[in-house]
Amino acid sequence: MSGVDTGMSRAVRAYPVFIAKGRGACGDADPDLFTGYGDRGQNRRKREAVAKAVCAGCPFRLECRRWATDTLQQGIWGGTDETERAMARHHGGFLDERLAAARRAA
Ligand code: SF4
Repeated sequence: MSGVDTGMSRAVRAYPVFIAKGRGACGDADPDLFTGYGDRGQNRRKREAVAKAVCAGCPFRLECRRWATDTLQQGIWGGTDETERAMARHHGGFLDERLAAARRAA
């Protein structure tokens, strides 16, 4: 991929500082819990549910979710999986973001 300009700045591609410095709730967790290791079906759903539960208590959840959405990450970030983030991109944001925007506009 070297030499390919994706349009993303190096700062955007890099891990956010709260992850890089292990400040998130996942700081001490096994990274495979969030990114997987080729598991499928029920095992994958169980693993992802545990990872999302860790994210639920993380103070960086929304920032992490936005970063992962914007940078097309795979795995669980900010309490969401890649399919949920793809849906949010398709629909112009997550439901809570769209509701907040609608309230501000009202
Ligand atoms: S939201 Fe989840 S993946 Fe992101 S820093 Fe927090 S615990 Fe880690």
